[in-house]
Amino acid sequence: MFCEILRAMKLISHGAAREVTGTCHELIVGNKRVLLDCGLFQGKRRESAEKNRTFTFDPKSIDAMILTHAHMDHTGRVPLLYKQGYTGPIYSTYATKDLAEVMLQDSAYIQEKDEEYMRKHGKADEATSGALYTQQDAAECMSLFVGKNYNESFDLFPGLRCTYYEAGHILGAVMVYLEIDENVLEGKPSNGSVIRFGFSGDLGRSTLPIIRDPAVFPQVDYLICESTYGDRVHDGIDTAIHRLQEIITETAARGGKVLIPAFSLERTQEIVYDLHLLWDRKEIPALPIIIDSPLASKVTEVFMKHPECFDQKMYDEFLGRAHNPFHFSLVNYTESVEESKELNNARGPMVIMAGSGMCEAGRIRHHLKNELEDPKNSVIAVGFMAAETLGQKLLDPEVTAVKIFDQMVRKKAQIHYINAYSGHADKNDLDAYISAQKGLKKLFLVHGEEKGMYALAERTVARQKIEVVMPERGKELFVV
Ligand SMILES: [Zn+2]
Repeated sequence: MFCEILRAMKLISHGAAREVTGTCHELIVGNKRVLLDCGLFQGKRRESAEKNRTFTFDPKSIDAMILTHAHMDHTGRVPLLYKQGYTGPIYSTYATKDLAEVMLQDSAYIQEKDEEYMRKHGKADEATSGALYTQQDAAECMSLFVGKNYNESFDLFPGLRCTYYEAGHILGAVMVYLEIDENVLEGKPSNGSVIRFGFSGDLGRSTLPIIRDPAVFPQVDYLICESTYGDRVHDGIDTAIHRLQEIITETAARGGKVLIPAFSLERTQEIVYDLHLLWDRKEIPALPIIIDSPLASKVTEVFMKHPECFDQKMYDEFLGRAHNPFHFSLVNYTESVEESKELNNARGPMVIMAGSGMCEAGRIRHHLKNELEDPKNSVIAVGFMAAETLGQKLLDPEVTAVKIFDQMVRKKAQIHYINAYSGHADKNDLDAYISAQKGLKKLFLVHGEEKGMYALAERTVARQKIEVVMPERGKELFVV
């Protein structure tokens, strides 16, 4: 009996359990505890703040951590983990390590500024205010990071081996393959039996610009899989560049500005890459393209340091011809606030891209306030807009005016949505990924709203006759 308990393998989802953000899963094998990601909860301010502040586990009890990619909903609580006593290694690809450094600094900076603002305006309350960590915490936790290559196998401990596979989601993102030899973990000789465990991280899509397609994942016994778009299909990525071309050309012809709210990590680089292709083919007019985001500038620099993550097309189109995809004659990266403000007075056709992606903060709000009432202008949404965000209100045809900085602004500009840039697998990609696992014994679905997750679960059970589990936050589950 004792032996049975010792050998049990357990899983506790501390985040992204029946929701999309806050990814954090704890795998317990023998007496080892391994954390898969440690992300921020995002969404409603008070609810997320409360969930972010306290861990549903003791950070000191974790032996090792694996990070799949640098998005904040997977990485954003790492400095807090460090601050609360975690001292083990954090394994990631080299690109994820460099991106995490930039993103975590930015996250800490925003939190510190936010705290200062709330205090100054007397809005501070215990539940929602106060930075989770400082820029110093974010800098210090980087000492725990251990860089690894794609397809390189390494031991977390004797008996627990990890290999990273390309996820095709953002630069540096991986799927995690674990081989667990329980005998070796317990200090005994191996009898050759190994449990194979997989974690999809955020599963990407084929043919996204810049990065490689998702790798063929090895066969596993148990799998944690994301389910963000479990019930939806995206437009083909090849349609995105044509839509971009059409909207920019039409807007420029009537003398308007094109505003593109975009995430600083990956989406901005993808759009610049496509604009560069369009300009090389002379399919867009000569107009200034302004990247008005210091964070995007920093992230773009990290991209150029990691050519090991690029796909063949990136080499064929740009690097092989000694061209930098992110710099060409039309494009300009602003740095100072003054430069950004000057754009208000600039006239004539231009493209302005700025964060934040959902228009909840950042310089894009200033541009929207100034440009939204001019029918000559266009706004192109290129990413997911969560409920209740300004971005979502822009897309809602029922909403005719939006509030920006305490001022009502009428929606006169043309609003467009290109969903084809999504970095996530859609319904069909997820079905293909799971059905390729022929010997799967149990599937854990995470990182999704219940509607999409249930749809994916139903299709999987009907097709593969396997057990599908949708973990609840903080609940201990037996894997084996
Ligand atoms: Zn992601």
